[in-house]
Amino acid sequence: MIRNAAICDQAGCLALYLDPANRPEDQPFDTALAAAGWGLDDVAGHRCPGCTRGTGPVLERGECPRCCGSTVDRHDGAACHYCGHVSPHPDEEDEDDLTDVG
Ligand SMILES: [Zn+2]
Ligand SMILES: [Zn+2]
Repeated sequence: MIRNAAICDQAGCLALYLDPANRPEDQPFDTALAAAGWGLDDVAGHRCPGCTRGTGPVLERGECPRCCGSTVDRHDGAACHYCGHVSPHPDEEDEDDLTDVG
């Protein structure tokens, strides 16, 4: 399977969006891109969430699933320096299993 990718066309911005592996088949890549906060301008081209919000450009690559920007660990997850997206810590996925079921 070929994965789509988009890069930010702003000068000096390293933002990158990779087609998410869990994207529903009936959802176009452009829709997923827009849902992640990316904009597409006829003249300026693709703009990452950070550049769209005025918090870009992405100067350092990291783990952000939306713009591949660098992130900082917070108690609630990894927060992107650029687009502000917070990815919950992987360990917290197990939290549901620990809740009282009975
Ligand atoms: Zn950008
Ligand atoms: Zn980001």
